[in-house]
Amino acid sequence: MAAETLLENYVGGAWVRAGTSDSLDVPDPSTGRLLARVPRSGAADVEAAVAAARRAFPGWRDVPVAERARRLLALRERLEAHSDELVASVVRENGKTADEARGSVRRGIEAVEFAAAAPTTMQGAFLEDVSPGVDTTLVRQPLGVVAGITPFNFPVMIPLWMAPLALVCGNTFVLKPSERVPLSATLLARLVAEAGFPPGAFNLVHGDAAAVDALLAHPDVDAISFVGSAPTARHVYTTAAAHGKRVQALAGAKNHLIVLPDADLDRSVPAILSSAFGQSGERCLAGSVVVAVEPVGDPLVARLSAAVRSLSVGPADAAATAVGPVIRADHRARVLRWIAEGEAGGATVAARGSAPPASEGFYVAPVLFDRVRPEMAIAQEEIFGPVLAVVRVPSLDEAIRVANRSRFGNAAAIFTRDGKAAREFARRIEAGMVGVNLGVPAPAAYFPFVGWKGSFYGDLHATGRDAIDFYTRKKVVTTRWF
Ligand code: NAD
Repeated sequence: MAAETLLENYVGGAWVRAGTSDSLDVPDPSTGRLLARVPRSGAADVEAAVAAARRAFPGWRDVPVAERARRLLALRERLEAHSDELVASVVRENGKTADEARGSVRRGIEAVEFAAAAPTTMQGAFLEDVSPGVDTTLVRQPLGVVAGITPFNFPVMIPLWMAPLALVCGNTFVLKPSERVPLSATLLARLVAEAGFPPGAFNLVHGDAAAVDALLAHPDVDAISFVGSAPTARHVYTTAAAHGKRVQALAGAKNHLIVLPDADLDRSVPAILSSAFGQSGERCLAGSVVVAVEPVGDPLVARLSAAVRSLSVGPADAAATAVGPVIRADHRARVLRWIAEGEAGGATVAARGSAPPASEGFYVAPVLFDRVRPEMAIAQEEIFGPVLAVVRVPSLDEAIRVANRSRFGNAAAIFTRDGKAAREFARRIEAGMVGVNLGVPAPAAYFPFVGWKGSFYGDLHATGRDAIDFYTRKKVVTTRWF
């Protein structure tokens, strides 16, 4: 694709130009070089996509669920056949390494596989003789038009958490992907088109806040699935709810990793390192605060420091790279401000890695802070970069208290050999996704992705059976035959 290429929307089964000349650059984070330009679609573009989805809805809803599931199996085949292309696209526009990108594409395909089980998962319930001669049936029916609004950090996986499940339940779908990673979404739309969905079942509208706001207010959009940062999630949740829509809004995070003195450090340190610095820390499940229960602090910080200093930061497509760039120059500047704030606030820089110069891409040298006070901003706010803060505490009780003070509640993990301590932690921690001796406790697509507290707005989560409930409404039919 030529760098000057202006991406198109996919509406009603056709590729169309957005009705605006306003566009944003899409640079490669590893080099800063221009990859393409993405249109800033407006209300008229959203109107066209929603109208196409609305027109397609009655026909698609009437396609038997097993046939809808077969379309997903066809999509799965396309995704498998093009997985190298998808991985390369994620590496190029997001800056993940190939291994990270491959893992994320695999997780997306798993969501498609789970969606294809809809002939079973969509089943309702039946009860004979609720009173003499009267039976009751519960069925699940689609909502209508669902819009999915996605973040930059998983360009393929997160759209695949949404569209396949919404579609298989009989809804039609409009995807508004992140304007920072529009190329993978474009490729995804091409594969959806090849899988034989009817025109208008799946639509793609590029753009940023204006396109989102048009979707939130549109009377023909019945539900919104959103994943992104906390302030946007709150805006999306409150605005869409005020317009009478069903909403799920997955938000930001600040995940705590508790390390007990009995932890197996040989195995725990690599897990912590990969949780905090993998994907440059741009993961909603990234470990961001290590809570070291003394006396593990000194040996743990010594090992983590050595590991951080030896992390190889560089272009996402280089084989030696462990930590790629962050997504944009302005995001890099924001992460550097957090690092400066940590230093100014009195946290100790235990280790700082090295990185290529800013002229070569959006690189941040990884930083490990020690002796961070839990109330410091770097221990409370989402940084979304290769920065890890160590807080030292005297007991497991205090460690749980520190973690539970966070306004976020996405994930938390414990590293220990003590089953009783792990059980106590899992019971008391105020986070929805809990790890024991692993740093990224991501649920497989058959389970819900359950953020708590400020990490989630709504009640039905993404993926798993929650998603089937989110993308359908229940109807209870009570029957008597004379
Ligand atoms: P973001 O909030 O900047 O953008 C997300 C989406 O919202 C994009 O499509 C964007 O175009 C749109 N958007 C941005 N600002 C908007 C505004 N003012 N009004 C309307 N729409 C707007 O998020 P991001 O930087 O792309 O993604 C990173 C964030 O997503 C992090 O905070 C991360 O924790 C979070 N995230 C959460 C989960 C989860 O499961 N909880 C998963 C992945 C990412």
